[in-house]
Amino acid sequence: MPTQPHKPPRPVAPRGSSLAGKAFWAMVQRVALTAACIDLGYIGLFLWLGSVPLALVNLGSIALYLGAYALIQRRRNGPGLVLIWAEVIGHSALGSLLIGWDSGFHYYLLLFIPAIVIANAGRYAVPIVVALLAYYVGLRALCDHLGPLDPLPGQGMQIVNWIHICIAFALSASVAAFYRRTILIAEGRLLKQATQDGLTGLYNRSHFQTQAQHALALCQRTREPVALLLCDVDHFKQVNDTHGHAVGDQVLQAVAQIMSRNLREGDLLARWGGEEFLALMPHSTAGAAQEVAERIRQAVEATTLELGEGNAPLQVTLSFGVTHVQGTQDLKAATARADRALYASKRAGRNCVSVDVG
Ligand code: GH3
Ligand code: MG
Ligand code: MG
Repeated sequence: MPTQPHKPPRPVAPRGSSLAGKAFWAMVQRVALTAACIDLGYIGLFLWLGSVPLALVNLGSIALYLGAYALIQRRRNGPGLVLIWAEVIGHSALGSLLIGWDSGFHYYLLLFIPAIVIANAGRYAVPIVVALLAYYVGLRALCDHLGPLDPLPGQGMQIVNWIHICIAFALSASVAAFYRRTILIAEGRLLKQATQDGLTGLYNRSHFQTQAQHALALCQRTREPVALLLCDVDHFKQVNDTHGHAVGDQVLQAVAQIMSRNLREGDLLARWGGEEFLALMPHSTAGAAQEVAERIRQAVEATTLELGEGNAPLQVTLSFGVTHVQGTQDLKAATARADRALYASKRAGRNCVSVDVG
């Protein structure tokens, strides 16, 4: 029987994601407050231009925006959004019908399009945008048919139009800036997840391998020595079994910190496996790396981890395997040599450093 082609799931923004989460609603609140302030200015403008009905429309708009702000503040996001929609739909209709389509009240409807598409993550975006288009076209036709019901005297219409153009540009730019920031934050998070170990913050295995190849290529060109240092926490299973997994995690974090402090800036450090750490040390001979390993070994041995009231402080030790790396093609073999040296340290009673240069 032929198999059905697999249909990929629709991309849906996860709950609490930045695009539809807290930051989004904070942005909506900022926009609502800004719009209320703009409408306050408009009341003065329309009174000056002699249009009392439009001044009253703006008073209603301010009430709607402040209501939306207060609702979102109380996490009633849905009703808050309904008030904003009611304002934009109503205001664009009343403004366009009273003083004419060319006043530009309809620009604000266009500002909604990116927000609809992004916040709805594709689910209801198309029907809502189509409904908005129908409303937009219908309003335009009605305005053309009726003509301005309460036209502004003199240059009033042009003044209002210029102001609307400026505000529409400013609002579009600030909403785009919000989405740009959101994307950059998400990109940073993804990069971190792809390159770091979640528990210790060190490089993960695959990122270490990529970075190591770059470092090795550079050192190969300049014929500089490179050393590799592998270490493993001694009797770590016992730590987990006696004190629990959470304490085990704390030990791994403490070891990672001590190792980071004792390596140089250009050295690469990764969590290689469960309780194993691997460091690549460019410009270092195996002898120099052996000294560094000894320093780390002593620092870890001298560290006691406080486990809180009623628990005895915990001490752990590390075993090390050190080797050198001869070029980009040697990383795998060098890791195997370091592993061999590490097991020599284990056999020798643990808490020591062994070197294997092949
Ligand atoms: P040895 O001295 O020979 O290295 O013995 P060991 O007990 O350290 O080694 P073993 O390989 O027997 O045990 C390693 C343990 O590390 C087993 C595993 O459950 C634990 N482990 C692996 N990853 C994590 C982690 O992320 N957190 C914690 N807490 N434990 C982990
Ligand atoms: Mg171990
Ligand atoms: Mg191990």
